[in-house]
Amino acid sequence: MAEIIAKISLKPGKEQSLKRFHPWVFSGAIGKSEGNPEEGDVVNVYSAGGEFLGMGHCQIGSIAVRILSFEEVVPDFNFWKMKIEKAWNLRKSLGLAENAQTNVFRLINAEGDGMPGLIVDFYNGTAVIQMHTVGMFLVREMLVEALKNVVGEQLKAVYDKSAKTLPYKADISSEDGYLFGKGKETEVLENGLRFRVDWLEGQKTGFFTDQRENRLLVQHFAQNRDVLNMFCYTGGFSFYALKGGARLVHSVDSSAKAIGLAKENVELNFPDDTRHEAFTADAFEFMRDIKNKYDLIILDPPAFAKHRDAVHQALQAYKRINTRAFEQIRNGGIVFTFSCSQVVSKERFREAVFSAAAISGRNVRILHQLTQPADHPVNIYHPEGEYLKGLVLYVE
Ligand code: SAH
Repeated sequence: MAEIIAKISLKPGKEQSLKRFHPWVFSGAIGKSEGNPEEGDVVNVYSAGGEFLGMGHCQIGSIAVRILSFEEVVPDFNFWKMKIEKAWNLRKSLGLAENAQTNVFRLINAEGDGMPGLIVDFYNGTAVIQMHTVGMFLVREMLVEALKNVVGEQLKAVYDKSAKTLPYKADISSEDGYLFGKGKETEVLENGLRFRVDWLEGQKTGFFTDQRENRLLVQHFAQNRDVLNMFCYTGGFSFYALKGGARLVHSVDSSAKAIGLAKENVELNFPDDTRHEAFTADAFEFMRDIKNKYDLIILDPPAFAKHRDAVHQALQAYKRINTRAFEQIRNGGIVFTFSCSQVVSKERFREAVFSAAAISGRNVRILHQLTQPADHPVNIYHPEGEYLKGLVLYVE
């Protein structure tokens, strides 16, 4: 699979974005192709004038090629090993790879680590892989070998969780399962707090590692506050709030399974702590009547918009939940509000939140502007990779 099977030439003038190292080739930019490239094949991309631009994986759809290298190389075992080594070394330099307090983090962040289509989260020895392209799927064995080679003894198992993330048009029937080693749900540590992670059943790869630093900030604000953690999933923000000295913490999620996990995790960290209660409920329903009940509200909804055409609706949903929070939070309250939709820009998210503030008639000020942590690096030539946006707001 390392072989370069086909060649693609772009239409005249369409080479500019690749020359600026943006790693996507859109189908409309393609002039002609040789060698019948198919989904998942490795292709070399040239300008109309025949200049080499990049090498990448072919895909059906509007993004036709995801570039793996801007140099003329063949993606063999060594190629992947070097990329994975760079990613691992970065996590090491961030103090994540050998850390007594935190053993859960993102090891490979797709474009952000020069590997479009590949996400790997590390859970205390188990790497959970999500492949978003057929190109990555076809080289998965090589990726696993390279991971073993680079991470060494610290890697106990690799679990593939791509069945739902591979492009459905490719019609690959892949099943989730172990590619190396075996394990089951495990316990991980994040900033010294214990979490049970279930990658077999959980959402995404099982745990949201991207909120690690923002959770710590919640801990700082929680002292003596009554906290609502809306869209709590496994309860991440709730434990930090408890640790930070919250008076009470209410965790809410529409998924009963998530609420079960959140409760279990509270027991692990704060056995018999009566400050915590968890509710299975819809956010919009639950927030209908919470007037003056809380002085710290966290809103971390799922990606309301997964596609461009859903952006408008997503913005309306952000506006609605934020309006409910602003209207009802106690005087001097703090709202942590997030968007993890890649297609919703930082500016548009801010506009939605600001218009919610205006509707509520409250005086709202920005205390912090948040994003994803360093183990989710953003390639500066691929700004789309900056997907997590958050604001900490003071409401009077
Ligand atoms: N804050 C979490 C991650 C949130 S993921 C963390 O730190 O780990 C988004 C969560 O929102 C999911 O658990 C999903 O079940 C929940 N959810 C989706 N729609 C919802 C709704 N309408 N009301 C309440 N929860 C919802």
